[in-house]
Order: sequence, then structure tokens, then C-alpha cells
Amino acid sequence: MRLSQYFMPTLKENPSEAQIVSHRLMLRAGMVRQSSAGIYSWLPLGFRVLKKIEAIVRQEQNMAGCQELLMPTIQPADLWRESGRYEDYGREMLRITDRHERDMLYGPTNEEQITDIFRQSVRSYRDLPRLLYHIQWKFRDEVRPRFGVMRGREFLMKDAYSFDLDYAGAKHSYNKFFAAYLRTFARLGLTAIPMAADTGPIGGDLSHEFIILADTGESEVHCHADYLDFEPLATEVDYDSDLEPFVTERTRLYAATDEKHDQATFEAEVPEAKRVNTRGIEVGHIFYFGSKYSEAMGATVQGPDGEAVAVEMGSYGVGVSRLVGAIIEASHDEAGIIWPESVAPFDVGIVNLKAGDEACDAACEDFQYKLGAERQVLLDDTSERAGAKFATMDLIGLPWQLVVGPRGLKSGTVELKSRASGEREELSPESALARLTS
Ligand code: ATP
Ligand code: MG
Repeated sequence: MRLSQYFMPTLKENPSEAQIVSHRLMLRAGMVRQSSAGIYSWLPLGFRVLKKIEAIVRQEQNMAGCQELLMPTIQPADLWRESGRYEDYGREMLRITDRHERDMLYGPTNEEQITDIFRQSVRSYRDLPRLLYHIQWKFRDEVRPRFGVMRGREFLMKDAYSFDLDYAGAKHSYNKFFAAYLRTFARLGLTAIPMAADTGPIGGDLSHEFIILADTGESEVHCHADYLDFEPLATEVDYDSDLEPFVTERTRLYAATDEKHDQATFEAEVPEAKRVNTRGIEVGHIFYFGSKYSEAMGATVQGPDGEAVAVEMGSYGVGVSRLVGAIIEASHDEAGIIWPESVAPFDVGIVNLKAGDEACDAACEDFQYKLGAERQVLLDDTSERAGAKFATMDLIGLPWQLVVGPRGLKSGTVELKSRASGEREELSPESALARLTS
């Protein structure tokens, strides 16, 4: 991709409406533009990142044995009347009336919709378990949309649902998502800590929020410092095996969100020097809720003895669009974003220091062509000053910058800079190519 042709409207000044760094950088890098409060358009650069995060989330769900479908954004109110949530949900729900005066709503989540799909088609315990997910836009009319895509009104969520015959099965499904989430967030370059979360009227202890520590986070959290050094991807996960030891090991130490926090237990279990009291960003949430919806909505299967059993369910959300902001909160410096390689909008930014110079143009073309098979490349072929070009590259945070200038070319070198470490190396074009390809 040539920057001269790419739609990437960067801003030099800090936009005054942005209070936190990720929001500022997303606006400045031309990733998103606000449409109305808490509702954003994703411009090409931001859209690439969103899609990469989505792809990793999808891969990990598939690996855990969860199957993708797609439910609509607009749902009939009647389904929510069945569960009793149409009244309960309150003003966060965007309610719509169609031309036939039927009550509809823009889905804030999909428990009712998936339970309806399930009850229409699944009859026997032999068809269980079922793990289903979709990645779809949600709408919640938040009182205070803020921090850009972190607390939007319209946002992209991966939400999965599990259906099992009994508690043991439901717990196994829960454990699968627990493991899949640790893998997912690690692949996104994040240290996400599973924290005991509020289970509300359901009770029990099967609810975890996955939290990234950040001062700008909206949740108050308390945990053992050792969580920060956990190696989440140390082992491959065999989803058919008993995952209980895996989950127990990773929930052994104290970690709780404010609603679940108990200071006395915290002090008893965690030595003072290891107590972390800070703020965090909720990027995922897994939740077991038993037969809450299946009973209300008549989602039963025939059990082994022929009796009707209301299925045991859980739901599992990942804030896909919130993650774009969360990753930036976790990975940036003064100059801009520092993308983890797995979600970077491009892998390499080539900087042509003298666009129009024959040798420079030819060398850049050659790089773009040769890297293109393996790497996603953004070539800055504009006639901006060198300083401005470097500033833009640092702002948009591509993992590698390849700087091509007339003087270097004469002595047979180009410069390769790692955005994360800031390290620069003078290399021959061939070695630079070798470094950037496998
Ligand atoms: P929060 O406590 O932040 O309001 P929630 O607990 O209401 O979130 P869930 O229903 O658990 O959210 O939704 C699953 C995931 O969707 C959350 O973990 C979060 O990452 C994301 N999410 C929820 N609300 C928003 C929002 N307004 N904007 C962006 N992402 C959101
Ligand atoms: Mg939540």
C-alpha cells in the first residue's frame, strides 16, 4: 500500500475531546472518527486492526470447539419478555418500533436469541454439549459513553454460549473458555488477569472478568502481584482433557474486581509486598448462569431417563472493539502506538526519504515487491519532510520501519528500526530483506 494513496487522515494536534491516550492516538492516527456520542466509523487503518483482533479471537474460539454463527443485531422484544429482561434492562436498551407497531430492539447481548435458536432444534441430551458464538455489533445506550471505543454505545463483541446437560458439563465448557481467553489475550500481546467477578443472583463462583491493568481502567481491582509474571501460553491446551487443574492453577492466587473484593481475605492470603490495588480494563467476561434462561424460555432436552431437563448455560464475551483501545493503553510511548506484531495494521513501514529520486524509488519498489509476498507493507512515498515521515511512522506504530535514503543507498545500506525497542541498524538491502522475511 502506498501512503500517498491511502486514506489515513492523521492529526498533528491532540484532539481536545480525548481524555485518555488510546482515544487520542486512535484519532491522531486516523483509525476512527466519531459519528455521534459513543458511535464510531472505523477508517482503513483502524479497521485492519479490528479485523486482526477479530481473526485471533475467532481462531481461538474455533480451537476450543466453539462454532461460529451469526445472529441479527435487531431482535424481537417478545423474546426478552419471555426471559423477563425486557423490563429489567432499562434505558441502556435501544428500543425500536417497526412499521407494524411491533416492538423490536437493537441487541445489547444475545442470551434470549441463542436460547430461542437452541430450543427450536435441540431435543436430546445426546446433542449436548453445544458451544456457539458470533461476532456481532451490540448497542447499549450507556449513560456516559467515553474514552473512545473503550466505552462506546455501539461496539463489537464476540459472545459465546454453552449448553450442557448438567453442572459438571457446564463447568467443563466454562473451563474451555477460560483457557481459550488466556490464549487469546496472550496472542494479542496482553497480560490479562482472570479475576473473580460478581455472579449476581446466580451465586456460586463461576464468573471471571479478564482484566488488563491500566491506570485509566474503569474497574477497581485487587490482586496478587505474581499474576503479572504468569506465562499464559506456556502449554498447549488439550480441550478434550480435564481442564480443572489448569483453571485451578491460574485462579489459585487472589484476584478480584471491586464488587467481589474482600479486604480481610486479601490481607490473609497475600503478603503486603505482593498486594496490588489498582485499576483495570475489562476485556472479557465468562459467566455460568445455570438454567436461568432455559427455564424461563422452555429450553429443555430429553435426559437419559426420558425426563425433560432445562439445559445448563453459560455466556462468554470478549470486547473486540474495546481491545483496540486496550492494546494501545498497554503499548504506547510519547511518540505513538507500539503495535504487537499479531495485530499491527501493517508489518513494515518503508520510508522513502527522497520520493522522486530514481535510486530511492527503485529500491523502495523492490522492497515492497519482495516483502509483499510475506509481509503487509505500507510505503511512505509522499514528499513530506523526513522528520514528518518519522513522526507519522512512530505515531501509527508499525513493528518495523525500513528507511531508504539516497546517501545510504550510495554506500549500499538502508536502516531498519524496531518500533518497540527503538533500535536502529544499518544493513545492506539484502540483509534487511532477510531479516524481515522468514
Ligand atoms: P462493563 O462493566 O465494562 O460495562 P459489562 O460487564 O457490562 O462491561 P459484558 O456484558 O460482560 O460487559 O460484555 C462483554 C464484554 O464486552 C466486556 O468484557 C467488554 O470487554 C465489552 N463491552 C461491554 N460494554 C462495552 C462498551 N460499552 N463499549 C465497548 N466494549 C464493551
Ligand atoms: Mg462484564
